[in-house]
Amino acid sequence: MELSATDLWTQVLESARAGMPEQSYRTWLSGTDASTLTDAELVVEAPSQFHVEWIEDKYGSLLNELTQRVVGRPLRLLFRSRRLSPLTLPAVELAQPVPEASTRTVPANASLPTGRTQSVDAYAAHGLKERYTFDRFVVGSNNQLAAAASRAVAENPARMYNPLFLYGGVGLGKTHLMHAIGMMILEREPRNRVVYVSSEQFTNQLVTSIQEGSMPVFRRRYRQMDLLLVDDVHFLEGKERTQEEFFHTFNALYDAQKQIILTSDRPPKDLSGLEERLVSRFEWGLVADIKPPDYETRVAILRKKASDDHIVLEDEVIDYIAHSCTASVRELEGAVIKLLAFSSLTNQEITTALAQNALSGVLRGENRRGTERLTPETIRDLVARHWNVRPEALVSKRRTKDLTVPRQVAMYLIKELLNVSLVRIGEVFGGRDHSTVIHSIRKVQQDIEQDTRFRRDIEEIQAKLAQTTIHS
Ligand code: ADP
Ligand code: MG
Repeated sequence: MELSATDLWTQVLESARAGMPEQSYRTWLSGTDASTLTDAELVVEAPSQFHVEWIEDKYGSLLNELTQRVVGRPLRLLFRSRRLSPLTLPAVELAQPVPEASTRTVPANASLPTGRTQSVDAYAAHGLKERYTFDRFVVGSNNQLAAAASRAVAENPARMYNPLFLYGGVGLGKTHLMHAIGMMILEREPRNRVVYVSSEQFTNQLVTSIQEGSMPVFRRRYRQMDLLLVDDVHFLEGKERTQEEFFHTFNALYDAQKQIILTSDRPPKDLSGLEERLVSRFEWGLVADIKPPDYETRVAILRKKASDDHIVLEDEVIDYIAHSCTASVRELEGAVIKLLAFSSLTNQEITTALAQNALSGVLRGENRRGTERLTPETIRDLVARHWNVRPEALVSKRRTKDLTVPRQVAMYLIKELLNVSLVRIGEVFGGRDHSTVIHSIRKVQQDIEQDTRFRRDIEEIQAKLAQTTIHS
């Protein structure tokens, strides 16, 4: 191997930097470091899990392409959070049925779906999310009982409250607490068998097992758990066969003094589509609700998020967001992400004025209706308008200069802003093949590097795009 991990990554970063707004580069990529390089993969560390997810989502395919170009052969690029806790590797049961022997660990060389990276896959396979820890959970008056009960259960599984039933609206932290309990229990007792499953997954697995005639495997798998986490049980309403199966699983675990944790959007008594015997069991232990966070809790959550994710947010900005987003923690997080995206796309510092600008859509509730989702087509059309040409002309085969430049820029921006394949980009322009698309993107990257005016032009379009939309 001629190149060291650091040399390779430095080269990749240099090319990437040339093709993106400086602010984006500084926010997302400048804090990354190469960690290890093998024949098969390059592992890169980022400051936080939040960075990892953002980089994978927005720059994953670009960085993959650049890496392969530098080494001249296929190489898998894996991102990892620098603050990996020892909890990220242990053994939580997989969400899909797996043979007994492999339930405890994920094989180091497990094959990964292409286009995704290890960290995400590994956590997904474990069923637990690394970032959902007690450490990261802000306790406020809205969730005090739920948080305290969760800690108690994590410290004394199956002794205090069994089952623990958490309920509340969307985006208030139920899943977060559930994962935190799972991880804490594993930290103390790594050999415990833990499974996190959404009610939907549970149902789907059951259906598959029935179809494949593998019910005994399904039953054994769930009934051998030390800790069973079932999310969103309201989903089981009206699904009698699943409820029946779940009832028996519940009894088996409960009788064996194993901890069960459930969440729902309603208290048990309001789950009218569930059998009475299940509802009554759900009430055997402790039922705790989570309410929307009050202002002080919202501020505390924003401060915590900023510091956990190494983002600088002035008090005034935090105050603005906390006043504007009141419904849920998820909404708060969405606002921060949108603000960061806006700031990095428009190359502006994060100020209250910028926040007002960036979040006006959130306040009007537009992003929730999804009316302003950024798509390859909207980018293409906006770029066409910027150059005063008709969008259909960019789709056509014509190759006059007045069309090739906007066409190439549009391709570049689609690649930069959306995580779509080269083939898909080709389709947006009347079915051009992917080598044409690659050529166009490189051309724009080069021009940006060499021509400041051109670069400003591109940044201006990006700012326009950011003003009208959020890309999700
Ligand atoms: P629910 O399952 O209730 O719909 P989640 O647990 O998925 O909600 O939470 C939504 C998001 O909000 C997650 O990213 C979670 O980490 C975050 N979150 C919720 N409550 C808190 C809290 N009290 N402190 C920190 N983050 C929180
Ligand atoms: Mg949830």
